Amino acid sequence: MQRQCAWCLRFMDHFGEPISAPQPKRYEVSHGMCCVCGSLWLEQAIRNTDEQKAQQKQTLLSKIDDQGA
Ligand SMILES: [Zn+2]
Repeated sequence: MQRQCAWCLRFMDHFGEPISAPQPKRYEVSHGMCCVCGSLWLEQAIRNTDEQKAQQKQTLLSKIDDQGA
C-alpha cells in the first residue's frame, strides 16, 4: 500500500520517510503524516502551548495589577 503525506503530499516509505517530491493528491493511496511533517507539527504544538501559557500568565498579572490599584 502506497502512502502519501496529507500535509506535504510527498510519498513516503513505511518508516514515514518522504521518498518523493510533492505529488498531486491521490485518493487510492493511504494518507497520513510523514516524519518530517510530524516533527514540524509537534514543534508547532509545543510552541503554541508555550505561547498560551505566557499569555495566561500575562492576563493573570494584569488582573493582579488591577486589584492592587
Ligand atoms: Zn509530510
